[in-house]
Amino acid sequence: MPRSAIREIMSLAAKKQHVIHLEVGEPDAPTPPHIIESAARAAREGWTGYAPNAGLPALRQAVARRVSGRWATQVAESRVVITTGAIGGLYSALMAVLDPADEVLIPDPGWPNYEAIAHLAGARPVRYGLAAARGFLPDMAEIRRLTTPRTKALLLNTPANPTGAVFPGEVMRALIEHARATGLYVVSDEVYEDMVFEGAHVSAGSLDAADRVFVVSGASKSFAMTGWRLGWLVCPEPLAAVATALQEPVTSCASTITQKAGEAALAGGDECVRAFCARFRRRRDMVVELLGASGLLACVPAGAFYALVDIARTGLDSLTFCKRLLEETSVAAVPGITFGPASDRYVRIAFTASDEDLRTGVTRLMQYVQRT
Ligand code: PLP
Repeated sequence: MPRSAIREIMSLAAKKQHVIHLEVGEPDAPTPPHIIESAARAAREGWTGYAPNAGLPALRQAVARRVSGRWATQVAESRVVITTGAIGGLYSALMAVLDPADEVLIPDPGWPNYEAIAHLAGARPVRYGLAAARGFLPDMAEIRRLTTPRTKALLLNTPANPTGAVFPGEVMRALIEHARATGLYVVSDEVYEDMVFEGAHVSAGSLDAADRVFVVSGASKSFAMTGWRLGWLVCPEPLAAVATALQEPVTSCASTITQKAGEAALAGGDECVRAFCARFRRRRDMVVELLGASGLLACVPAGAFYALVDIARTGLDSLTFCKRLLEETSVAAVPGITFGPASDRYVRIAFTASDEDLRTGVTRLMQYVQRT
């Protein structure tokens, strides 16, 4: 597997002082205190042993209630698997459906871990394009063209990292319809579902295709809990047992103390989630204002907490650009190439720095592109 260019920039940034970090993909807030308190209480009360492979029953029920409400359909607890972060859910979902030599359609730009998991499964990742000119939405004609008898699964990510696109309902419906018509499984990564600034998040789980859709989400982004490693997966009923069995040789189960914290997070209401979202929206607006006139913003992000900046006019590849940007201006950003071969003309910035750092960092980045 290729070394992640994100990690490469992070290790270079770690060697420098006074760096403005626009590369970090996690909320810049501590986990809300009521969640931390519930974990401390759970540890004191003895929730320190293994949990079942599929997770604690109370948390599985809480996730089932949450998605049933959001999707306006009844989701049984038996379809829910608690995982070690959303990445654990992606791993179990993809491993459950992919056999060696199968093809899986993944986005470009797309989060690099999708390709890595496909490799681990011995499957072949096939990229479908998300072009800025289409608002970083998939092109159904291309998806149809790329679907072959070997294609087993279609991976979706909405709201998307790194583009910030939120797939509208009609796009999601067309994708699900295609999956139904061609017998594909859909693995829908919705870990940014609560970070939406415009439009509405439409979950693949709400579209009446419970026999073929795996929905992955978790607590990392919604509740500022990246380090706790808590995610969940809602599976087609017959495959929940496979996804559960896949946990045993890898993680066994998500941390029990973390799962107790997850129960508190889901029971505690969405006030903190809305506050995080409002903060990212404010920063998104700031970035749009700063970059708007320059023409460098690839697209106005409607969700998640990232934006892509177009560096094509510099003539540099994105890794060289990011290394020089860091060296010469002390701003760390992520090279687009890490998200796919068609994304080398971009760098990703995250709205997870303070307002002041974000303003300074984006201004330096813009000036650097203009003078390069
Ligand atoms: N999916 C996407 C698109 C992400 O950007 C990330 C983390 O950055 C994840 C999944 C992983 O989330 P978790 O921390 O819950 O494993």
